[in-house]
Amino acid sequence: MKRIAIIGAGPSGLAQLRAFQALKEQNIDIPEIVCFEKQQDWGGLWNYTWRTGVDQNGEPVHGSMYRYLWSNGPKEALEFADYSFDEHFGRAIPSYPPREVLWDYIKGRVEKADVRQYVRFQHAVRYVTFDEDSKQFNVTVQDYQHNQIYDEAFDYVIVASGHFSTPRVPEYPGFEHFTGRLIHAHDFRDAVEFQDQTLLIVGSSYSAEDIGSQCYKYGAKEIISCYRSKPMGFKWPDNWSERPCLKYVDHDTAYFEDGSSAKVDAIILCTGYLHHFPFMQDQLRLKTHNCLYPLNLYEGVVWENNHQLFYLGMQDQWYTFNMFDAQAWYVRDVILGRIELPAVEQMQQEGQQLHEQEQQLDDVAELIEFQGQYVERLIQQTDYPTFDIEQVNQIFLTWHQHKFDDIMTFRDKTYRSVMTGTMAAKHHTRWLKAYDDSLKAYLAKKTVKKEASFS
Ligand SMILES: Cc1cc2nc3c(=O)[nH]c(=O)nc-3n(C[C@H](O)[C@H](O)[C@H](O)COP(=O)(O)OP(=O)(O)OC[C@H]3O[C@@H](n4cnc5c(N)ncnc54)[C@H](O)[C@@H]3O)c2cc1C
Repeated sequence: MKRIAIIGAGPSGLAQLRAFQALKEQNIDIPEIVCFEKQQDWGGLWNYTWRTGVDQNGEPVHGSMYRYLWSNGPKEALEFADYSFDEHFGRAIPSYPPREVLWDYIKGRVEKADVRQYVRFQHAVRYVTFDEDSKQFNVTVQDYQHNQIYDEAFDYVIVASGHFSTPRVPEYPGFEHFTGRLIHAHDFRDAVEFQDQTLLIVGSSYSAEDIGSQCYKYGAKEIISCYRSKPMGFKWPDNWSERPCLKYVDHDTAYFEDGSSAKVDAIILCTGYLHHFPFMQDQLRLKTHNCLYPLNLYEGVVWENNHQLFYLGMQDQWYTFNMFDAQAWYVRDVILGRIELPAVEQMQQEGQQLHEQEQQLDDVAELIEFQGQYVERLIQQTDYPTFDIEQVNQIFLTWHQHKFDDIMTFRDKTYRSVMTGTMAAKHHTRWLKAYDDSLKAYLAKKTVKKEASFS
């Protein structure tokens, strides 16, 4: 029997387990699967940890999520086509769930599919090599449960280890003498820590926008965010300003390219993440920046130079959970020989074309459509339940507009499910006043008392 190794039990790795299990439920034989997960539980980034630095085993902490994180896009855009929010929660819920609620939803599907049996927890993949003679991979694994390192042979390897965990950390002159707290977004855990402080946020993408909003919500005195190319451009609250690039820091003062300066208590580097796969042999290692169509991956998933190797979820993400599903179903069918791959030259040519096509797009609508088309192309090739991609694209565009209308209220909006047609419920508390992000408080019929104030 063929053997498959999946690296990581986050949403992508779990999508892969679900894809195979869907066949098993139809009494179709599937290969032997082992999913290696270095954390103690599944869910990837959605499995919150308070830890920063290293975990209990001395592994770099994977988690980049923080307390009070709420979905940054409507849940209707990420809904699984084979497991709806209605099915999981038994009733309509609002469109922007907090992290714990989405984690619960992710877990619900795989618990139902009974795939935990395939996962070896606290197993960190150390190194993957390919043997040209045996045509198999050697996977070296550190098993922290039994404190041992061992090797196993596999016919296929699927890398689903995520790419929002290894921080990209720039250096600015004066950082070494900065007198306040200086962290990367990866280590940000709790906005309450920055209450009454003046905060400098370096960066202008999702993390900057969301971490700044969190700190505003939980009582930061002032927020300054600075950008390299262009400002985020939202209508910020009065105590939030955007400035051009940071030049240097002198003890407690930050100096910017426009000649302005400001005293700050803390600096949070929202400067992005690296695609980092130190456990892959060099010729098998994906080397890319964060984009919608990385090179060397046919259909965004098949390693062009070795069709026994796959990467899931490596794109920059508008689409998330249902895109990972589309990829996982496609990979499954390539492995099972249900999908035939073209010649390598054709794969490379197509990949290059799409990679270049992406670079011509700068309008948000075009970028969303580009990823939507990609998801649709994959779905059309498998039996993953099809859904209306155009409608999902529209959800993304409306969401984008809502953010520009008011960055502090977009999470109060509701959307209709593309999968079930159910209209989301209105949340009992406005996001800006909903301080308790627990599953219990979220699902409560009305505001529970402690939400009234966070301090
Ligand atoms: C701060 C933040 C907020 C986000 N908010 C949203 C949001 O609101 N909505 C949304 O849809 N998406 C959001 N995302 C995007 C997020 O990337 C996806 O939702 C999703 O978690 C990606 O799933 P994944 O399985 O590809 O990767 P991950 O979730 O990163 O999971 C990868 C798994 O691989 C494991 N792993 C890594 N290396 C090894 C190894 N060597 N051996 C064994 N196991 C390993 C990790 O422990 C982890 O469990 C957010 C991301 C971040 C960083």
